[in-house]
Formats: sequence, C-alpha cells, structure tokens
Amino acid sequence: MNFLSNFVTFQNLHEVRRLCHWGPVIALSVISICSTMAILDSIIWYWPLDTTGGSINFIMLLNWTVLILYNYFNAMFVGPGYIPLGWKPENQLEAQYLQYCRVCQGYKAPRSHHCRKCNRCVMKMDHHCPWINNCCGHLNHAYFTSFLLLAPMGCSHAAIIFIMTMYTQLYERISFGWSTVKIDMSAVRQFQPLMPFSVPAFAATLFALGLALGTTIAVGMLFAIQMKVILRNKTSIESWIEEKAKDRIQHYQTGEDFIFPYDLGTRWLNFKQVFTWTGSPKGDGLVWLVHPKCHQHTLTIEQLKQKADKRVRSVQYQAVEDYNGACCPLSKGLQTFFRTPCTEEPRIPLIKGDTILATRGTKWWMYGDKVLNEEHNIVGDRVRGWFPRRCVEKCHYDTAASDSTSDKKVN
Ligand SMILES: [Zn+2]
Ligand SMILES: [Zn+2]
Repeated sequence: MNFLSNFVTFQNLHEVRRLCHWGPVIALSVISICSTMAILDSIIWYWPLDTTGGSINFIMLLNWTVLILYNYFNAMFVGPGYIPLGWKPENQLEAQYLQYCRVCQGYKAPRSHHCRKCNRCVMKMDHHCPWINNCCGHLNHAYFTSFLLLAPMGCSHAAIIFIMTMYTQLYERISFGWSTVKIDMSAVRQFQPLMPFSVPAFAATLFALGLALGTTIAVGMLFAIQMKVILRNKTSIESWIEEKAKDRIQHYQTGEDFIFPYDLGTRWLNFKQVFTWTGSPKGDGLVWLVHPKCHQHTLTIEQLKQKADKRVRSVQYQAVEDYNGACCPLSKGLQTFFRTPCTEEPRIPLIKGDTILATRGTKWWMYGDKVLNEEHNIVGDRVRGWFPRRCVEKCHYDTAASDSTSDKKVN
C-alpha cells in the first residue's frame, strides 16, 4: 500500500507555481511537441494502427510520454527534500561541527546546502535545475536521473519515426538518389494515408526532429553527468569541496589523508543508495552511511576548515584567454559548449590578464568573482558568475596567498 501511495501521489502538489517559469514551460512544450508529432506521424503516415507493429509502436510512444512526465513531475513536485527550519542535531555537541544557516535559522545537516532560489537548505544538494524549477537533491535524485535517461530514449524513438515518415512520404515524390539504400517500403505502399503528407506536416515533422535530436544529445549528456554523481555518491558541490580539500592539504602540508566519506566503495552500493524498489532513496537526508575510515562529520569539519582558511575560500585564477560571456561559447571547445552549467546564474566576460577568485566549479566551468580595480571596489560593484575553465590558469601559491593574513596551519 505504501508502495502504491508512493507511486500515485505527487507530493507537494500545491507547489504548482513551480510550473510558471521558462524552464518547465519550454521542457513541457518540447515533450508535448515531440510526442504529439511522433504519434500523429506514426498513425497517419508511417505505421497504421491496424498493423501489429503499428500498435506496438503506438503503445511504446505513449509509454515514453507517460514515463517521462511521471518522472519529470515527481522530480519537480517531490523536490529535493529540505532541512526542517530551525534544525539542530540531536546531540547538541555535534553542532560545533556544522555550519549555521541564518536564513533557515538552523544548522546545515551534512551534505545540505542553502539554495538561494529555493530559499531553503536542501538535502544532498547537487544543483538548482531551471528545467524543473527546483533543486536536484536527496529525494528527487532518482526521479531526476530517470527523466534524464528516459527523455533521450523517447526522443530517439520519435526521431526515428520522424525520419522514416519523411523518407517514406517523400520517396514517392522526389528522388534522393538513394537507390542503393534498401529500406522496406512495403508498409507504406500497402495503405493509403488518411491525408496527404502536406508541406505544413513536413515542416512540423522537421521541426520536431530538430527538437528530438537536440534533446537526445543535450539531455543525454546531463544523464551521463548525473550517473557519475550517483555512482561516486559525490555531488557536484562535493566534488568542488574535495578539490579545495586537496588544495588546502597540499598547501599547508598538513599530512592529512582526505577520504571522501560518502563514496561507499563500490558503484553498485552507491547506486543502491539512490535507486531503490520503493522509489524513495535510502536515508533520511540528515544522517548518511559513510566510508569505514570516516565519520558523520568528516566533510562538514573539512568545510569548516575551508571556511576558516581565507586562502581556500576561493582559489585565485588568471585569465589566459579572452571570453565574451556567451552561455555556450562555440570557440572554447565541444566539452565547454555542451557542459555549460545548467543554471540561470550569469556568465562573466574575461579579458586576458584578469584575476578571478573562484569559489566553485565543474570540470569545464568555474564560478567566481572578478577582482576589480580600486575604483569599482569603492562603488561596491561585484562581477560574479561562470566562465570556462580553459580560459584561466591557477595562480601559483605565493601570489594566491598574498592576500591571506598568515600561512598558519589550520587544524
Ligand atoms: Zn538555509
Ligand atoms: Zn534550489
């Protein structure tokens, strides 16, 4: 029964306002256009319902739509799970290992981060996704990732239908010079379509094909990224904390051996933390299973050390290439183009020689503050946003540490 209620209830459905945002509007339009066109093309021109193949094809197309929407709405409405307002650890002594959130008036449980868009501390926050207009975190990680897998699968199916519809319909009229390509045309020759394949139908099919192919590539890449996050049990935010931890340990030569605490050792074990038969992930979002050599607060203590250490709060970089501030820059390589951060946060243009204090980043992009000249500093201007990692180079320690008060060890 519990399973069933999990299955049919979209929790927090009162949050319908989440739909009123460009992300869900575009995402839902793409889903509707692709599935409607695929179904219409199939039953009218390509694969009639009175054939066995046509019926199976039709059921499969409906299935994709239902599964995609189910996971999409659950990712949006179940949400990531928020830390209760005013939350304190049960054991008061543990509070010293945690950061305090002034907005939520409570402690930040391990793995949680405050999201400025949601205005709450989010359990196991990965990122705020504008496409679902919600955070991707603990409770919706499986729904979100399933959506990222199903959308490219459904879109690939639709794309094949679009291509075959156009091919079989146009084949009769114009010669592509494809006489060497042998495709079974018997299905289309046997039946008279309900209506002729007109120019508007052709245009709509071509448009839907573009959407389907674009979605397959873009969402497929996001799926690969999220699978990496799940199989390592390490969110994008935690990857950056780990990078800063290694940087801190190397700089101060503390001799610490930093082990990321949430990677349970095998990919299968990590996978099972997120994907379960009940649909809800393992754990309550506050207490986590950890690596045998670590404890509950391994990462939060590291975060506090980083916070206490002015130098690693940001890492200093210098621009070695100009960057015009484009969201998906064409001239900075394919990976930079496709891996552009999935957020509404701004991009900042760079000019060779600029200094940037980076506070977080991904493999291909970084986020930080541009160091401005005196004049701007007095006005209180701040230029903060994303830029491609390949446009900058890390500064050497001596320059990076120049603004730090001392080089004392932080333990
Ligand atoms: Zn908060
Ligand atoms: Zn958020």
